[in-house]
Amino acid sequence: MESVPLQTDVSLKALNTFGVEARARFFARIERTDQLAAVLADPRVRDLPRIVLGGGSNLLFTGDVDGLVLKIEITGTRELAPTAEHWRIEVGAGENWHATVQRLIEMGRPGLENLALIPGQVGAAPIQNIGAYGLELAERFEALTAWDIERSERVTMSLADCAFGYRDSAFKGPLAGRRIVLAVTLALPRRWQPVVGYADVANELAARSVAEPMPRDVFDAVVAIRRRKLPDPAHIGNAGSFFKNPIVSRDKRAELIARFPSLVSYPLAGGRFKLAAGWLIDAAGLRGATRGRAGVYERQALVLVNRGGATGREILALAREVQDKVAEKFGVRLEPEPMII
Ligand SMILES: Cc1cc2nc3c(=O)[nH]c(=O)nc-3n(C[C@H](O)[C@H](O)[C@H](O)COP(=O)(O)OP(=O)(O)OC[C@H]3O[C@@H](n4cnc5c(N)ncnc54)[C@H](O)[C@@H]3O)c2cc1C
Repeated sequence: MESVPLQTDVSLKALNTFGVEARARFFARIERTDQLAAVLADPRVRDLPRIVLGGGSNLLFTGDVDGLVLKIEITGTRELAPTAEHWRIEVGAGENWHATVQRLIEMGRPGLENLALIPGQVGAAPIQNIGAYGLELAERFEALTAWDIERSERVTMSLADCAFGYRDSAFKGPLAGRRIVLAVTLALPRRWQPVVGYADVANELAARSVAEPMPRDVFDAVVAIRRRKLPDPAHIGNAGSFFKNPIVSRDKRAELIARFPSLVSYPLAGGRFKLAAGWLIDAAGLRGATRGRAGVYERQALVLVNRGGATGREILALAREVQDKVAEKFGVRLEPEPMII
């Protein structure tokens, strides 16, 4: 077992896409699994709180971390024996998600193109079961390997073990803080079919005169749509959608539609409805709002942004204001999507 250099008092500003300042009391870069056991057993950090960090694109630091930050940098991609139905690819948790999507298409292993341009790393993708444009990770997932912190051993988790839901998984519930993802095995359908049920994607392909899309066409369409709609964290700090789309009963939706006929909602199995959180925030009059150096993005009210030099607390205060105003107007409580630290 190899020891890992533990750094102290490390700035996390460049390691989170909101670009807010926060310092880690202890910090370690993990490139191989054996380093994890060593660092977790180190007496200086053994009993301290821990934060696992990927690309930092789905979290908000509201203060310094008085504990250990583990930056996961385990790389590598390898193709496993296929089944009759699926290509099987194992990807290290530290690989960049978008680069992986692109590389797999180039290798003739498409299937993730609807999830193109989602920032962050492969190891974080299962944590909230990333999804976009009509596809979720769960639909392309076979298994993952993780480090179980209590047992100090490597474990394998199946699709069922991960308990994926809408922006949700066991890692946000019973396993929170207990397992560190090391690698994800993807299952990509050998009989590829484009996923174009989502209106934005269908319209973009039509605008490009693509009648029979190939994987690369869907990839290009998704990338173009996202570039138009979402702020690039390299230019304006953000963590993508700050709130989940709330799910309400049929009665609640009917009550809201009566009062707000243009309400945007989507039917779900079981008679419930998903409301567009961005629409609610917009209708509460908050799109484009600025509070100090934090703001609600002009082009997509679901995204909170750092207008330059904002602190995590400023962004959190704005998030609370958004939650309160939406609750007051619609009687619906928005839930943050990123992890608030
Ligand atoms: C512009 C923009 C657009 C976005 N669009 C989407 C979108 O369309 N769909 C979507 O689902 N998300 C979206 N996101 C959110 C984000 O990109 C995803 O959630 C992504 O998976 C986060 O990856 P990350 O490596 O940055 O994770 P981080 O932010 O570093 O971590 C997120 C959470 O995962 C945990 N974690 C990270 N790595 C591991 C690991 N190896 N083991 C255990 N836990 C780990 C962290 O502790 C934390 O709780 C967007 C974000 C931005 C900035």
